[in-house]
Amino acid sequence: MATYDFDLITIGAGSGGVRATRLAGGYGARTAIVEQSRVGGTCVMRGCVPKKLLIYGAHVAEDIADAAGYGWTIEDARFNWPALITAKNRELERLEAIYERILRENGVRLLRGSGRLVDPHTVAVNGETYTAERILIACGGWPATPAIPGIEHVISSNEALDLMSLPKRLVIVGGGYIGVEFAGIFNALGVDVTMVIRAGAVLRGFDEDVRDCVTHDLEKRGVRMVRESEVRSIEKGADAYTLRIAGSDTLLETDLVMYATGRAPNTGSLGLAAVGVAVKESGAIVVDEWNRSSVESVFALGDCTDRVQLTPVAITEGRAFAETFFHDNPMKVDYQAIPSAVFSQPPVGTVGLSETEARRHGAVDVYVSRFKPLKHTLSGRDETTMVKMVVDAASQRVLGCHMVGPDAPEIVQGLAIALKCGATKADFDATIGIHPTAAEEFVTLRDKRPDHPARAAE
Ligand code: NDP
Repeated sequence: MATYDFDLITIGAGSGGVRATRLAGGYGARTAIVEQSRVGGTCVMRGCVPKKLLIYGAHVAEDIADAAGYGWTIEDARFNWPALITAKNRELERLEAIYERILRENGVRLLRGSGRLVDPHTVAVNGETYTAERILIACGGWPATPAIPGIEHVISSNEALDLMSLPKRLVIVGGGYIGVEFAGIFNALGVDVTMVIRAGAVLRGFDEDVRDCVTHDLEKRGVRMVRESEVRSIEKGADAYTLRIAGSDTLLETDLVMYATGRAPNTGSLGLAAVGVAVKESGAIVVDEWNRSSVESVFALGDCTDRVQLTPVAITEGRAFAETFFHDNPMKVDYQAIPSAVFSQPPVGTVGLSETEARRHGAVDVYVSRFKPLKHTLSGRDETTMVKMVVDAASQRVLGCHMVGPDAPEIVQGLAIALKCGATKADFDATIGIHPTAAEEFVTLRDKRPDHPARAAE
């Protein structure tokens, strides 16, 4: 039997890679993990965590404005962007140290550098080669931008999280998770934000009522929306950038351009083709339900596999991989009813099928409630919460829950358990609410929305 340096070498110390490797290490496997940048990966270093810290920072502006309705006079409130960035960076350093400690405590050797496959059992890092019985690729993704003239001038979310100063004007191209979240952050901090989106509303793929709400909320807060438009070129002038919109005379002048047009698998430099690991046109590694690639000893998980680009999904895939191959406990990931959130202002929480998706499977009952949150009766803020439930008409099983409003992600996480358990509308109705909350709305939805012919035909 062949002997290897390690039982497992993982390329990429992000959320999924760390979870898989430290569990395998904890189960007694001899493990190593390769990382060319910071331990923690996209979520912890360049994504979810720093983004959410900036969102908390931005939200303070709203809290100060709302305070007047509650009798507070807050004078001389000033904001210091570099102070927020410094505090955020300090927290990231703390988290990175925790991740490194977790690896150490589970006997995982950290190999600093960029990893490349040499053969199905060998990884090269900084000129050294290491062998392993299994190789796991968890190298994540990277911002993808279209090839248009002037694209070299733009920043991505990576740089947006570390700007030295706030621009006066910002154009964000792309209306997905990242575009919406960063528009909210910068708008709240006083930047004049314009979004250029290809569709008529942001967040393609989300429930249409959610999309309408979020688009409307962004506009109400002063974000300018350039819809059904694509940028043709970006020119750098002496003091500003000029964006030309394809097929129109529209010119947008701005101080900074941020692209949030999706993320691509980070697999280009791994030497996959030479070893025979099959990838899709996008560069995503093709894997089976056990995270195994087309090469028996090579596995992949997380964003580089292009399944569902969410941290908790990568973490679950990491756990399933470690349980299956290092704990004799075969485990597959269930991709049904994955809840997710968009940390817009107010945020979105969603789980299960959108109304449009649900209608493809059969007749549905739809319940929608819109109301002013109690907090804003005194703050005077013009903001509406939207709560929506999509129910299978025949079985009365709840297929989807969607919410736009304060704490929506916190509320929908609990509802996701109910959907996983197959809860029906009657189960929700039989649950007593907590009063006064927005969450109780999900157990007091009584009136079906009349079927709209256009919706029924979708
Ligand atoms: P998304 O896929 O969510 O959105 C991409 C956006 O860019 C869409 O609006 C899309 O338009 C637009 N777009 C794509 N290509 C072009 C192009 N060539 N020109 C103009 N517009 C274009 O990607 P994000 O970058 O926002 O986020 C990447 C991933 O990261 C997400 O899919 C998500 O899984 C994850 N993420 C999750 C978060 C969370 O859970 N809160 C937060 C941030 C990221 P169109 O709609 O027309 O296709």
